[in-house]
Amino acid sequence: MISLMTRPDMENYLTQFESLLQHDVYGLLQEQKEQILCNILDALHKHHEQHCEAYGRIVNDENDSFNMLSDFPYLAVRLFKQLDLRSIDKQDVYRVLQSSGTTSQQPARVYLDKVTSARQSKVLVKILQDSIGKQRLPMLIIDSPSVLKDKAKFSARGAGIQGLSFFGRDHTYALDDNMQPNWPVIDAFHDKYAGQPVLMFGFTYMVWLYFVQQLSSSQRTLHFDKGILLHSGGWKKLEQAKVDNDSFKATLLKTTGISRCFNFYGMAEQVGSVFVECAHGHLHAPVFADVIVRDPFTLACSPNGELGLLQVLSAVPSSYPGHSILTEDLGTLLGVDDCPCGRKGKYFSVQGRLPKTEVRGCSDTHKG
Ligand SMILES: [Zn+2]
Repeated sequence: MISLMTRPDMENYLTQFESLLQHDVYGLLQEQKEQILCNILDALHKHHEQHCEAYGRIVNDENDSFNMLSDFPYLAVRLFKQLDLRSIDKQDVYRVLQSSGTTSQQPARVYLDKVTSARQSKVLVKILQDSIGKQRLPMLIIDSPSVLKDKAKFSARGAGIQGLSFFGRDHTYALDDNMQPNWPVIDAFHDKYAGQPVLMFGFTYMVWLYFVQQLSSSQRTLHFDKGILLHSGGWKKLEQAKVDNDSFKATLLKTTGISRCFNFYGMAEQVGSVFVECAHGHLHAPVFADVIVRDPFTLACSPNGELGLLQVLSAVPSSYPGHSILTEDLGTLLGVDDCPCGRKGKYFSVQGRLPKTEVRGCSDTHKG
């Protein structure tokens, strides 16, 4: 704490972040939210500029006054694979999150200290409780228990499961080590909790391929009509199978009885501040985060309804400069403050990934 107190930007950030926690997760109109987030991101930007050399170099000739969220510089997400981006000393690293890289690529590395890690959990809890309630429900995890075994390489998948475990009890893994449904375990969970509120969680393609499809092909039906499914991850692997959100939900309902199904979008580089789907199928930006859609060629802000690259902003990370990231995901801004579900702020959809090209962020336009 002593070292933190000597950093005025950090102190400023912490005070403002605390006040952000007082607001309803989707309670602020975009204009109010932008003001608050601008101040927070300004403090984070200055903090990272001072404490992460690589970040400082990348943004060094950026204009330093930011009146709007879209004024902030952003890092292309692949930089987390190429550089060691951290704003803390080595001895303060509490955990390194790794996203699964391909063989030709280094995995992304996200450096967490204890305070950022705690802040991630706090924010995730606030956001998800808004959708699934405060009660800890019996939880069926659509994954294999081995995903958590390798502690040395803490994967983003493992981190996701661990983060979500907080919302459940009697954690049960539905898949075996070969990613096959563990029927005796699933049947026992069903015998115990059928007809009761339960929580299921898994990554979208795994829920579909290894659970819902398996139930369907083996003509099994579960009766979790009071159940909730939270699932995360892109649709890319499902696109070839021609599965969209509607058919996913319809087949889920048929095989498990679950009608409350929420997809959420989030980056491994911004764990905690996730964007959750509402009953109208729209992803919502919580008070802790925001989204900007940019033209893939000019990188100018795109108007509502236009497909573009997603930039995601988060008030959460202080141990690494991940507060403003240009993703390689394509999406569309659908509206602001007026979703029929009543949530304020921006809502959007994610349509997939940019084909394998390099996204040119500001890191490329400034030769440091
Ligand atoms: Zn909505």
